Amino acid sequence: MKLKIKRFNESKLEPYIEEFNVTHNQTILNSLIEVKIKNDKALSFRCGCRTGICGSCAVRVNGVERLACKTNLNENDLIEAINNTKVIKDLVVDLSHEEKFLKTTKSFLKELSKEEITSKDEKLIDIQSNCILCQSCFSSCPVYEVNNEFLGPYALTRALRYVNDKKENDKNGILENIQDNGVWDCTLCGNCTIVCPQFIDPKTDIMNLRMKSVQEGYEDKSLSAFNSFDSGFDPSGGFNPNGF
Ligand code: SF4
Ligand code: SF4
Repeated sequence: MKLKIKRFNESKLEPYIEEFNVTHNQTILNSLIEVKIKNDKALSFRCGCRTGICGSCAVRVNGVERLACKTNLNENDLIEAINNTKVIKDLVVDLSHEEKFLKTTKSFLKELSKEEITSKDEKLIDIQSNCILCQSCFSSCPVYEVNNEFLGPYALTRALRYVNDKKENDKNGILENIQDNGVWDCTLCGNCTIVCPQFIDPKTDIMNLRMKSVQEGYEDKSLSAFNSFDSGFDPSGGFNPNGF
């Protein structure tokens, strides 16, 4: 069976595609391991648990994000590194954005509430807690083409997890941190929801965060600027009665 891998290393200026023959009926991860053992020990990719739990082996297969350990190889599949970040070598990418966005959203317990937690409370954060930080959603998101500071689907899903967590006492602090480059910058395209291997729905999570933001008095600043413009407000200081 033929497998194509988009490769890159700093000694070659441009990425290039290389073809390999591998055994039938196996996962993409096992095929990559086979290539590394039989053809090229320098082939670089990430993997950990090999059972879909650690989230480290996400790649793009024919342009769509997949966990290499959970996806079977088909004839002529093209395997590439995930999108929206720098490729370090072959399928290994720079993941420094991951910590940066989580820290910016403050999506972690900061002020512990003493409230008692029921199983109903746990259910509220159950699905979002299953995120394995595989970065598939990040890779599929079109917003990074225009804004590489966008907090993005996994960090916003995690923000909702802590906003809904009864143990977290500073929910407003999290909402405050996701206004700029956050909930309002999402186009609601749904790519992130389609590719998530954990069946998380970041698009709906972002819509929920928008609703919670509005309830706390926040608004989409781009829309409020538009409304001011439409109502005749002239940001230069004058008043335009025609609203344009
Ligand atoms: S939300 Fe889903 S796709 Fe995104 S990082 Fe978490 S597990 Fe991966
Ligand atoms: S729904 Fe929003 S966060 Fe998800 S991929 Fe589309 S633009 Fe990105």
